[in-house]
Amino acid sequence: MSSDAQEANADRRKYEFRKVIEELTEYEGSGTQLVTIYIPEDRQISDVVAHVTQEHSEASNIKSKQTRTAVQDALTSIKDRLRYYDTFPPDNGIVIFSGAIDTGGGQTDMVTRTLESPPQPVQSFRYHCDSEFLTEPLEHMLEDSGLFGLIVLDRREANVGWLKGKRVVPVKSASSLVPGKQRKGGQSAQRFARLRLEAIDNFYQEVAGMANDLFVDKRHEIDGILVGGPSPTKDEFLDGDYLHHELQDKVLGKFDVAYTDESGLKDLVDAGQEALSDQEIVQDKNDMEEFFEKLNTGQEATYGFEQTRRNLIMGSVDRLLISEDLRSDVIVYECPNGHEEYEVVDARHSTPDHECSECGDEAAVEEREDVIEHLMAIAEQRGTETRFISTDFEKGEQLLDAFGGIAGILRYSTGV
Ligand SMILES: [Zn+2]
Repeated sequence: MSSDAQEANADRRKYEFRKVIEELTEYEGSGTQLVTIYIPEDRQISDVVAHVTQEHSEASNIKSKQTRTAVQDALTSIKDRLRYYDTFPPDNGIVIFSGAIDTGGGQTDMVTRTLESPPQPVQSFRYHCDSEFLTEPLEHMLEDSGLFGLIVLDRREANVGWLKGKRVVPVKSASSLVPGKQRKGGQSAQRFARLRLEAIDNFYQEVAGMANDLFVDKRHEIDGILVGGPSPTKDEFLDGDYLHHELQDKVLGKFDVAYTDESGLKDLVDAGQEALSDQEIVQDKNDMEEFFEKLNTGQEATYGFEQTRRNLIMGSVDRLLISEDLRSDVIVYECPNGHEEYEVVDARHSTPDHECSECGDEAAVEEREDVIEHLMAIAEQRGTETRFISTDFEKGEQLLDAFGGIAGILRYSTGV
């Protein structure tokens, strides 16, 4: 799979997760009976089954018969789900939610949801039984899923690694043969200085090579690169254009960091906190700026469901822009005369009656589907990238309010 396709998949999964989380946060149990389990990828499934079996037998001490039955049913349902897995959970782990939710009037409904391979690894095993599902850890994973490259260096030592969400992952290190400032007796000062500069240059090349090996393949997924170290090392390194030019463009900033060992990578993340938080919506902002520019100056922009869909099918859409907060369904109607029409409705609303706009006959519902799933499926077939746009800035809000949450930046003008 290409890295673009992987990125598209990751976006789609994030959206699906967000939808499930929104659904789950609306549920409540009448007692402490909603069970959530977070399972890290290195936890043996048989361990988890043993844990759930233990909880099941302890639940027999619950005084309220209704809560007791509800908890035990939830645990049974979780055990059933666990049977689908072999020894270990898939990458990044699994989260399972199960319980009898209140549906009003003393009625309950059994709900079980499994989320596999969240965007960040599940950090620790958690068993949680409450009147609500535990969704916060997953919500954090969705918020903090950026990927950043980290480089710290001085003239003696360097480390490169990743910032994945909130996790710092050291990957490679190097140490230099750069001689100290004190020259040995008998060496000419000039010659010593030249050798020392050469050694520094060699070391910067080595560090850049290390960073290039790690980052260049991932350059389309990386949200930015932070460089840290004492002055003037980091400045010399960046100003000397040692990094691959595409990586150089990704550098968000350079920061003073005292240590250049693995702990220096963590210091770098602390020092660059402001640059990191700004970065989260920088891409969203750039996309929206480009959209408005094209909308104002030319025809290489599209918006609204119908127009965007037509352009997507033509293959003319470079980037599909979807508001992160869009929650709508598309309903496909067909009248007795074979006219097909689409209508977008709020996901919470029931399906309205529809009169064919061409012949006036009553149209029947062919299909009802999540509008984002519908558009993303076409986008994927046409090699169009989908971008989810935050509503945390003005133009992002406008996408949702003024353009129905759907727009596209076109590869060429289509006049559609
Ligand atoms: Zn018709």
